[in-house]
Amino acid sequence: MKAALLAQDGSVLFEARRPTGREHGTDAVVTAILDFAADLADEGRGRFGSDPLAAGVAVPGTLDEKNGIAVFSANLGWRDLPLRKLLGERLAGKDGTAMPVALGHDVRSGGLAEGRLGAGRGVDRFLFIALGTGIAGAIGIGGRIEAGAHGYGGEIGHVVVRPGGPACGCGARGCLETLASASAVSRAWAAASGDPQADAAACADAVDAGDERARQVWQLAVDALADGIVLAQSLLDPSTVIVGGGLAEAGDTLFTPLRAAVTERLTFQMPPVVVPAMLKDTAASLGAGLLAWDLLSVTPPSDRA
Ligand SMILES: [Zn+2]
Repeated sequence: MKAALLAQDGSVLFEARRPTGREHGTDAVVTAILDFAADLADEGRGRFGSDPLAAGVAVPGTLDEKNGIAVFSANLGWRDLPLRKLLGERLAGKDGTAMPVALGHDVRSGGLAEGRLGAGRGVDRFLFIALGTGIAGAIGIGGRIEAGAHGYGGEIGHVVVRPGGPACGCGARGCLETLASASAVSRAWAAASGDPQADAAACADAVDAGDERARQVWQLAVDALADGIVLAQSLLDPSTVIVGGGLAEAGDTLFTPLRAAVTERLTFQMPPVVVPAMLKDTAASLGAGLLAWDLLSVTPPSDRA
């Protein structure tokens, strides 16, 4: 878990990390979250002499953001967890008033932070794509994230780019994440190189070293990703595509061929600027902080300066 104390202008006052303790079960995870938040509030009181005004928490899985319920997370083991209520009560003031708490989805919160504080700063419309174990995305419009009618907006990882392709965890075949996630590249490079330990980072190194097999594995992922981005470009027409997650750590090894592959696929669409994410693995925690500030005002912090 990553956490931060965030000032009204979006600047980070304090950061901390803790394990979720998920090996001890769901109850332990929930206790760890609540304890972490309470300790962070104490840290803020000690450093700045005043109470935090609101809290935000971003979690993976499916959410009911309106009602503050973390509906399901296979990763963390919970089902229908009233996280907003639990956290509001735990952080209640001396008079017993619950603290305002925002509950957000981890990738959408990360996208929100990239949009306001990171690579999308000053950009009105962007698409954020996180290339990790899977592929997730967030659609940024006018300083907020479009979650869709059911909370699944931005799921570019499950756009089918290779019909009949590899089986995906979602039940479909040929989804983008079966071809261009860090895990997919790791699997493909392990198979091609004959080294079961070889991962996506090793594949990127081999590409840089001029290994032709690695270049082919890499290009298959780049082409799939470009197909997904061009589909999104046709639908959403963002000015900027922000790419983060483990695979983006490859830097120019990814971005140079990716920009070329996107450009050569465009017909009438205007080309997006394709840039690396800036906030790395703290993005979701900063986004949770922005959601907390949003509870207190509808004006994004970055617009107030
Ligand atoms: Zn899928």
